Amino acid sequence: MGSQNGFIYAHPDDETFLSGCLIRRLADAGEDNVLLLATRGDAGRQGLERAKNRQELAELREHEMREAAEILGISTIEHLGWPDGQLDEVDFETIVQQIITFIQRHKVENVYTFAEDGGNGHRDHIAISKATTAAVHSGACPSVRKLYYAFSPLLRAQGHQPSILIDTEKLWPVKAAALKAHQTQHVTIGRHFGNLVDFPEERRWEAFVLGWQVETEWETL
Ligand SMILES: [Zn+2]
Repeated sequence: MGSQNGFIYAHPDDETFLSGCLIRRLADAGEDNVLLLATRGDAGRQGLERAKNRQELAELREHEMREAAEILGISTIEHLGWPDGQLDEVDFETIVQQIITFIQRHKVENVYTFAEDGGNGHRDHIAISKATTAAVHSGACPSVRKLYYAFSPLLRAQGHQPSILIDTEKLWPVKAAALKAHQTQHVTIGRHFGNLVDFPEERRWEAFVLGWQVETEWETL
């Protein structure tokens, strides 16, 4: 049986932006990918072009997320359902406990999340990064072997090198299809990835830094 990979992010579409090709490759290698999202992505004018209100937008984005998950090879999606854009106002220990529960339920071995700066400084990204790190280090997640952070300006400034580096060119049609599934986000996606037909050279790499790994027994002997 392949490894259990847990991707822990803030919004539907974070998984595709940062790790769409990585997820597809892991799935193709027979590994299982589970996804935990802190919010349903129900804030923002962009989505409200197509939905009457936040509730309808949440439902729309859940539907989009299921479609993207199928394309990428994610077996399970869980939503914590916290308010989009206000994650840093939610009780921190509550989120940590929810992440622990998710990791335990799926016996996650490899955890992937944002770096401490949230990649782009988004407060929800920063909050979920901190809570995930706290969960992994809580002592309550013995299944976890490795914790990876998506490469970010902060990690670069700190001199870290990616330990996972995926060239997305070959799998670009897959990533583009998953991005397209997140229809309500078309403006942001267009700004980042262009027209989804031409390969976006400046977005070539998906990169993760190994933030922590369990000490193996032969090292502690
Ligand atoms: Zn996000």
